[in-house]
Amino acid sequence: MPGWIPAFICLVLTMNSLNSSFEDAPNKLGANDINITQFYVGQGLSVLIETSNNTILYDTGPKVSGMPAVSTILLPYTTRRGISQLDHVIISHGDDDHSSGINFLNEYFKVERWWLGGSAYQKFDINNSKRCFVGQQFTADNLSLSFLHPSEQSNSQRSENDSSCVLLTLINKDPEAAILLTGDISKRVEKNLLQLLKLPKMYMMSAPHHGSKTSSSKKFIQALDPDYVLISAGYLSRYKHPNKTVVRRYKSNLTQIIRSDQLGTVQFRYRNGEWYGPFCIKYSPKHIWQKTDNTDTCIARLN
Ligand SMILES: [Zn+2]
Repeated sequence: MPGWIPAFICLVLTMNSLNSSFEDAPNKLGANDINITQFYVGQGLSVLIETSNNTILYDTGPKVSGMPAVSTILLPYTTRRGISQLDHVIISHGDDDHSSGINFLNEYFKVERWWLGGSAYQKFDINNSKRCFVGQQFTADNLSLSFLHPSEQSNSQRSENDSSCVLLTLINKDPEAAILLTGDISKRVEKNLLQLLKLPKMYMMSAPHHGSKTSSSKKFIQALDPDYVLISAGYLSRYKHPNKTVVRRYKSNLTQIIRSDQLGTVQFRYRNGEWYGPFCIKYSPKHIWQKTDNTDTCIARLN
């Protein structure tokens, strides 16, 4: 038997087991495994980070057809995965497209720690909540997570968007796997971050403010040099996110663009020190542009 056949079978089995690790949920992730899922929540943002023993949600998304996106999109996923507790919920800021599921989550999930940014801290009276600000950090299995923004002093001059909690996630022992979640910060905050902090190269980042032209400066993109950018935007939204110039900027940096309005809900999986994905997954309401849930077509549909 040629030597490449076992190797080929091994590759097929590995890919199958990666697929089944999602489809056969619930199953516990291994000690160093991570799932990162950007849900399609229309015009808004919601990203879930899962490790072996921890689940971290960054933003809830808006209401969709009068229902919080977390009730129709996140809940079916977490139910299937056997997740009933969220260890950390971060609400980047108080705008509806990021925070509309707070009351639902508070009712249906056990949340160990809330981190609230912008007006969300004043608007919602929630037990176990803290205001996010630079320097605060926590760990989750093999992850170290820290807030890079805003500053501790509340600043009445700062816009709601610029009050967003910016979260840096580092995978221990893998300096090339940094992830940055940016809420809706503008170029002004991007500039501050570059001036004040030494930021690592990113494996993945969320495009600030859904890829709006007010964010994603050329200098910010070049400094972070992300392999992937997650752009969460509503399909045919009146906001017309992402902005074409911003898309061009990421492309010219050779950053792979992952648009929720084109791909729906997308998951990346970290296994044995390697990233796999993106996988297009089923946990969004069907849209006319989502013809299949097949992994291959997800990759084929990438720009
Ligand atoms: Zn937003």
